[in-house]
Amino acid sequence: MKNYEVLVVGSGPAGLATALYLLQMQPALAGRIATLERARHPRPKVCAGGLIPRTITALKELRIPLQVPAVEVFGGLARTPAGTIDLAPSHEPLCTIIRRDQFDAMLARHARAAGLEIIDQTRVLGVEQHHDCVTVATDHGLFEGRALVGADGSGSRVRTSVFGQTKHNIGRALMADMPVHGERAEEFIQRCYRFNFNCVSAGICGYCWSFPCLIEGEPHLNVGIYDQHPHNPLGSRRDLLGQLLSAFPEIASRWPGDGESAVKTFPIRWYEPNDRYVRGGTILAGDAAGVDPLMGEGISCAFEHGKLAAAALVRYLNGDRSALEKYGNELHRGMIGRKLRRLAFAARCFYGTHHRFYFRLAGLSRKLQRVSVDWYNGARGIDELSIARAALRMMLHGSV
Ligand SMILES: Cc1cc2nc3c(=O)[nH]c(=O)nc-3n(C[C@H](O)[C@H](O)[C@H](O)COP(=O)(O)OP(=O)(O)OC[C@H]3O[C@@H](n4cnc5c(N)ncnc54)[C@H](O)[C@@H]3O)c2cc1C
Repeated sequence: MKNYEVLVVGSGPAGLATALYLLQMQPALAGRIATLERARHPRPKVCAGGLIPRTITALKELRIPLQVPAVEVFGGLARTPAGTIDLAPSHEPLCTIIRRDQFDAMLARHARAAGLEIIDQTRVLGVEQHHDCVTVATDHGLFEGRALVGADGSGSRVRTSVFGQTKHNIGRALMADMPVHGERAEEFIQRCYRFNFNCVSAGICGYCWSFPCLIEGEPHLNVGIYDQHPHNPLGSRRDLLGQLLSAFPEIASRWPGDGESAVKTFPIRWYEPNDRYVRGGTILAGDAAGVDPLMGEGISCAFEHGKLAAAALVRYLNGDRSALEKYGNELHRGMIGRKLRRLAFAARCFYGTHHRFYFRLAGLSRKLQRVSVDWYNGARGIDELSIARAALRMMLHGSV
């Protein structure tokens, strides 16, 4: 059995961010932290790859330059059941679109250089908790750590082993990549992303997106649909594809291959206020814990969870036995928990019976649209402000 101070399961953004922050906070842990990963980088990941500014801030904090091909978008267009919302171009990018295989491999390279051991092609099968350590069973033998981070995504094996099975808060997204002529696609010409929420009126709790991206240097569109409640009878794969094609009819002629096979599907676990994230020496992070219910955005959450997890692990390893429990409280009551609760509330409004009313409301003020997008993006840290402070800044300065 191999022993480590900290074992992390999963080397996606949550697992790697935890390790990177941990090694930044306590470099002496180099060589004593390991990640168990079932795949090997660069590994494919079904994801649109949109990084919001909060994630870019986290990369700067970790001193990781974004050394992968990326497309920055500065404006956006959202069709809704109550009309179109046109986000005027901003000076700062609203989103930076990368490919996840390259992005995650880049993070893994930096984490390795900082002292993380990545044990790849090793699948975790189960977890056993003891008084002062955690044992992890894999298809390559047993591993032991003083603490364990379950960062193994929406279908987390760590979560199931330690906290039991819960499926009601798992959404789903379908996506496909299609080549386009950069000079003809609106997303490349206007440097914008497009959203379409009309599927809400058809009973789907979600939206369709079209993001510009580069695959092997060539312009592509990543198109997809997110459904927060896929157990809804209207959420069959065929229904979702039908909604996606009616949101962006022009893509039908460019649909690659035989259509169906080009589409990739993956679950997204969203935040549930009653969930627990800590038991004994095990904590959860990223999709394994639960991310944004409204848009299914999870990369910024993965970094946020990773940062909090790292701080808690440092305190835990230094003898504070309550540090992990505090991590669980922070995830619910700290900035990220507050933000996810507000997004859960927004999902109930925009995907509920009175969605037309809320979309109409959202269309009324361009200023409010800009502030909401900046808040969502974590631009200039405004998602850390209380509503009262944000309102006060609006009154005093006319912006947040
Ligand atoms: C179609 C789609 C589009 C999306 N678009 C966006 C977007 O544009 N922007 C955004 O922010 N978010 C997006 N998301 C969500 C985003 O992909 C996730 O929130 C993010 O990947 C979560 O990171 P993570 O590290 O928690 O999990 P993951 O990235 O899923 O990483 C988990 C890792 O654990 C490994 N693993 C799993 N099980 C085991 C096991 N048993 N043993 C060992 N290793 C294991 C996996 O191989 C993987 O490497 C999208 C999701 C989908 C499905």
